[in-house]
This record gives sequence, C-alpha cells and structure tokens, in this order.
Amino acid sequence: MVRLFFVLLLLLPALSVAEGAVQLALEGKPPVTLDEVYHRDGVAYLAVDEVLPVLGLSGSWNSVKHIYSIKTPRGRAQMSPGSQFLRLGGQFQPLTNPPSFIDGRLRVDENFVVIHLPALLNLSVYYRNLDPTVEQLPAPSSLDRLFSFLLRKQKPAGVKGLRAVAIDPAHGGADPGSMGPNGLKEKDVVLAVAQGLQKRFKMHLGLPVYLSRDADYSLTAAQRFAAVNKPEVDALILLHAQAALSETARGAVLFIRPQEQRAADGGGDSMALASQLRQALSQAGILVTAIERAPLLPLGQGDLPTVLVELGYLSNSTDRELLGQSAGQERLAEALYRGLKAFAQQQQEIE
Ligand SMILES: [Zn+2]
Repeated sequence: MVRLFFVLLLLLPALSVAEGAVQLALEGKPPVTLDEVYHRDGVAYLAVDEVLPVLGLSGSWNSVKHIYSIKTPRGRAQMSPGSQFLRLGGQFQPLTNPPSFIDGRLRVDENFVVIHLPALLNLSVYYRNLDPTVEQLPAPSSLDRLFSFLLRKQKPAGVKGLRAVAIDPAHGGADPGSMGPNGLKEKDVVLAVAQGLQKRFKMHLGLPVYLSRDADYSLTAAQRFAAVNKPEVDALILLHAQAALSETARGAVLFIRPQEQRAADGGGDSMALASQLRQALSQAGILVTAIERAPLLPLGQGDLPTVLVELGYLSNSTDRELLGQSAGQERLAEALYRGLKAFAQQQQEIE
C-alpha cells in the first residue's frame, strides 16, 4: 500500500500547482487584482484572457489551429501552447516558459506579463505578486536552470567528423504542439521525421542517433535533453512544425543561437550546420525561408552545433502535403540526413 502510494506520487505532475493572486496595471492606471493565479515550480501563471484586457489588449483562441492571437497596435502577435516564442510579424520574442493550458484556460507565466509583452509592445506594466510564499523573486524554473548549462562541444583533439547526433522531436504526450486544420499534430510529424533520420544514420553511416523520445509521450525538460550531454554527441537538431492564422505562410525556418552569429569567422559551427541543412532541403525542393538567430531557450548556451528546425506550416496546404504524409516525412528525413552528412564531411576537412 505504501509502495502504491509512492508510485502514485511519482505519477503526479512534476510541477505542482497552487493558487495565489497578483495585481496588474498599465503604468499610471489603478491596479487590478487577478486572483486566479497558479504557481508552478515557483512561477506564477495567469490566464491570458484576464491579463490582456487589463493592458488594453484583446486576444482570441483558435481551437482549430491551436493558436492564440493577440490584437496589438503593431499587428497580430501569435503563440501556441508549448511554444518557445511569441511571434509578431517577422519578429520572435523568446518566452521564458511556454504558455500552457492549466485548468482549462491558456495561461502565461509572469515573465510574459512583465518582460515579453512589454518588450514587444513598448508598454510599461505595474505588477505585484500578492502571494507571500512567492513574494520574493520567482525561483528560476527548472527549464532555466537546465539551459543555463552550457551545451559544449566536447570533441577531443584529433577526432574528426560526427561521432553521434542528438535529435529532439518536440512536444509529445499531452502536449500536441501546433495543430493543422485537419487535426494534424506537430508532435506526430516531428516524431516521424526524427525516426526517418535515425534510420538513415543507422543504415548508411552506422552512427548513433539519440532521440529524446521514440513514441508519443511527454518528457520533462531534463529527460528531453539527457542525450545532449553525452560526450560523443557532436550535433543537436530540434524538430518543430508551426501553424499560422494566415493560410499563406509556408516554408521551413532554421534557428541558431544569436551569439554564434557574432563569431569572427562568420557564424560558428551552428551556422555551418544550418547552411548545410538549408542547402540539402532546397536541393530536395523543400522551401527554406530563412536562417534566423533567436535566443530560444532550447538552444541553450555554448557552442555545441545546434539547429532548431521549423519544418513548415501545418496551416498551409502545400506544407501539409509534405508534413502530413509519410512520403513527405521521408523526404524531409532524407534531406536533413544529407545536410547532416555534408556537415560531417565539412567538419572532417576543417579539423
Ligand atoms: Zn513546436
């Protein structure tokens, strides 16, 4: 019985949820008390529907596309549950913690309210957490702690090429990621592509590929990136797919850490990896719209060659043909495999 109790404890969500209250206002306006506040891991989460009116904004949830859209003076800002950034036009505002559904409502963390939204909209916001247990600065979330670790290249001198690759098919389990109008889920697309990539590495190169998940289940942040710190991992690919309110948005986008852009040699190894992936995708007839520099948390710090690949838009019918069918998923896997192989060969020549 005691053992059963412990098993049940382990099955509880790792992040416990508790309630509290906060005060919020546009600077100069009287504060409004929001009392449906949940605390996860020391961070307050607020219902985005309650936050926006206090700041003179409005938003709407598209349950088909799984996108929350905020009407702002600068246009529509969009985000999805589980997404790492808020998008406004071509600009990406990285989020400390992804928005998520808690108790039936889409909730954003307090950093969203006091940092990200004001930064994006040039707003000044008054915010006070009234819960004495979290009155002090919120503890860094486990995600922040995890990514404050450096993802370092750990290659000993004399070792050439790639020794192993880590692939992270994003989301999984209760978190579907983005969704297409026909119910196509990001979590399923990225898993299929990751498995196709792994198969090719095993067949052709005999190289170990570590997937963060090999089926449809959710992962803690620590589990998700456990493989990255294996010393033989010489590259990390994070696979995502996105959705937009506009049907016309399409194409893949590759993201690398911004600090590597400033490397004197023209962008560092992540840029070299992204360039090879872009070339291979283009050669396979797959549209790549850009290589972006974005301080996305999953990219971590450091210099491990890392590229976050947004494979395409689940909301676009052309992209959906590629993303939603196994032939298209195989094409994506083949192109990414060729890109990684070209990167491995390039590394062999340089080192
Ligand atoms: Zn995603």
